[in-house]
Amino acid sequence: MPLVIAIDGPAAAGKGTLARRLAAAFALPYLDTGLLYRAVGRRVLDAGADPADATAAAEAAARLQPADLARDDLRGPAADAAASAVAAHPAVRAALLAFQRDFATARGAVLDGRDIGTVVFPEAPVKLFVTASEAARAARRWREQASQQDASAASLAAVQAAMAARDAQDAARATAPLRPAADALWLDTTTLDADAAFATAMAMVRAKLA
Ligand code: C5P
Repeated sequence: MPLVIAIDGPAAAGKGTLARRLAAAFALPYLDTGLLYRAVGRRVLDAGADPADATAAAEAAARLQPADLARDDLRGPAADAAASAVAAHPAVRAALLAFQRDFATARGAVLDGRDIGTVVFPEAPVKLFVTASEAARAARRWREQASQQDASAASLAAVQAAMAARDAQDAARATAPLRPAADALWLDTTTLDADAAFATAMAMVRAKLA
């Protein structure tokens, strides 16, 4: 099996930026698995259905097309909430599992998400659980949204509340909840910028592979 690096953690912990940089450093393909759930959630919303409806969500997952992942409306509060709601349905998770595993078969991969080290690739030789304080994560997400100069951008308190609710929902669901694998290496990015987080992660990965 080619090298798989599994990266999990709560929202806005810096997983995506880190995963992209690790993938470049190790010449591995990168998959943002959150996009799969976001695209399913968006399909359900487009159909006028409720993301909490298991049947509608499973149908949307079964119809997912690669082009759905390139949509430009997969971010923002509505997409966040829809993604987390559809992600709680076992049938949705089952429908997305083979795609995630196949993605890494030929050349290995770096994947980030919530259940990569626990469910998708429990045998991955390198697992990182990336986290940061809730306040730091909310501030990052809020700054991101503010920089997009969206006049409807939410307050910091509202961003933090929505993020906390989504993390709680992701951690509490029965199927593939957000949690660190027993053999995951923890990386707390509260006081680290992207360069420092990358340097720390590189040292951890190299030590693990040595
Ligand atoms: O990582 P991102 O914030 O884009 O993920 C959006 C949502 O998709 C998460 O809140 C979570 O509910 C779901 N997700 C998941 N399992 C993954 C990746 C994302 O349940 N591997």
